[in-house]
Amino acid sequence: MQIDHLINGKPVAGRDYFQTVNPATQEVLAEVASGGEAEVNAAVAAAKEAFPKWAGLPAPERAKLIRKLGDLIAKNVPEIAETETNDCGQVIAQTGKQLVPRAADNFYYFAEMCTRVDGHTYPTPTHLNYTLFHPVGVCALISPWNVPFMTATWKVAPCLAFGNTAVLKMSELSPLTAARLGELALEAGIPAGVLNLVHGYGKEAGEPLVAHPDVRAISFTGSTATGNRIVKSAGLKKFSMELGGKSPFVIFDDADLDRALDAAIFMIFSNNGERCTAGSRILVQQSIYADFAAKFAERAKRITVGDPLDEKTIVGPMISQAHLAKVRSYIELGPKEGATLLCGGLGAPELPDRVKKGNYVLPTVFADVDNRMKIAQDEIFGPVACLIPFKDEADAIRLANDIAYGLSSYVWTENIGRAHRVAAAVEAGMCFVNSQNVRDLRQPFGGTKASGTGREGGTWSYEVFCEPKNVAVSL
Ligand code: NAD
Repeated sequence: MQIDHLINGKPVAGRDYFQTVNPATQEVLAEVASGGEAEVNAAVAAAKEAFPKWAGLPAPERAKLIRKLGDLIAKNVPEIAETETNDCGQVIAQTGKQLVPRAADNFYYFAEMCTRVDGHTYPTPTHLNYTLFHPVGVCALISPWNVPFMTATWKVAPCLAFGNTAVLKMSELSPLTAARLGELALEAGIPAGVLNLVHGYGKEAGEPLVAHPDVRAISFTGSTATGNRIVKSAGLKKFSMELGGKSPFVIFDDADLDRALDAAIFMIFSNNGERCTAGSRILVQQSIYADFAAKFAERAKRITVGDPLDEKTIVGPMISQAHLAKVRSYIELGPKEGATLLCGGLGAPELPDRVKKGNYVLPTVFADVDNRMKIAQDEIFGPVACLIPFKDEADAIRLANDIAYGLSSYVWTENIGRAHRVAAAVEAGMCFVNSQNVRDLRQPFGGTKASGTGREGGTWSYEVFCEPKNVAVSL
């Protein structure tokens, strides 16, 4: 299969191609066009030309097309989910039941919302002030590899719904489902040039895109290191930066332990542990620590690692051999730093023949982790849990915040006052109390500290995809 760029509604061949590989089997799935400055320039020019007409459409007409795109995704869930699973290794139970259906919802939600964009009024005795929300123009949308289709649609849906045009650049490791999104957008009747796709590597395709003077806003999801580079090379533009995380999952001794255990397992081992909001630092109160650690390791040992196309598989392959090597390097480091390996480690999981060559790692649990160890401070982005004991509420807050990141956080306690105090004190963009991460599309999604800046979701998406203007009328 060959995947080309999509520029102004037409496939555009690459001057060069790279391969995308199934991380479970190492089979080459497609030859993908590798873009650079020339393709970026052409895509931005197409988006710029399409902008006035698209922005000028009445919102209900844009909404109709965007809803149609949601319908086409909903109609093709099994096919898109299988492609996504083959391309990035996320298990089919997630892609088929959660992530791809959620992508359709992203379009339904923002189709509805764009018809209701309102403003504010600030009347004074001398002036009537009111705000207008205009589209921004050409937006650069850049996505990572971990949940590529969901992330791409989370950006494309609000971007287009609010009247902007887009150049989307997917990760070079998982470009296939976005290529399908481009086809479906045209099938839905979204005009040529409104959604363009340039494939390729960060340096060759990503950098000229973010630096392009006609790009007015950047919605980026990816690592903190790349986010920092983009901020430097992009110049003055609107930004939303959704970056890495190392989120605390805090369990007090009065928590509902069965539910906390389920959620803790889910938040570190689902999505192969390749999840920005993973609860990867599990802080457990000393009085229940030993009991919790034993139960947690027992559950982790029973997790099914295997073929991501098998509905029963919980943990699939890591995205690439390079990423597998990174995750394994942390598993090797843990005991050297003084952590106790409770389960998992560097051994090979038992695998069905079809995926024997896959990039697999065992779900791994470290106990007796000190929060200053590298395994506790660095984003491993794999199925590796760190269990860290704490004394009391103050200690829990201190440890939760002793980290560069600030994306998500989780607090488990039956003490309502404490729940609110910790939720307020934790340095994170999101806090879930007695809950795993549950997304509502109205919530502000995003992080603080090294986890990024800006929020997306509901009206928070105005921040990057709309330009507010104040109009002051003398009375
Ligand atoms: P990455 O930063 O390596 O790449 C992300 C994207 O940026 C890719 O498309 C890549 O090609 C592109 N890119 C790389 N260099 C670039 C440059 N100089 N200019 C422009 N674009 C460039 O990240 P990754 O390894 O693909 O993804 C994993 C990271 O993403 C993790 O840190 C994870 O936490 C983070 N993530 C964050 C969220 C969130 O919402 N906060 C969600 C998912 C993943």
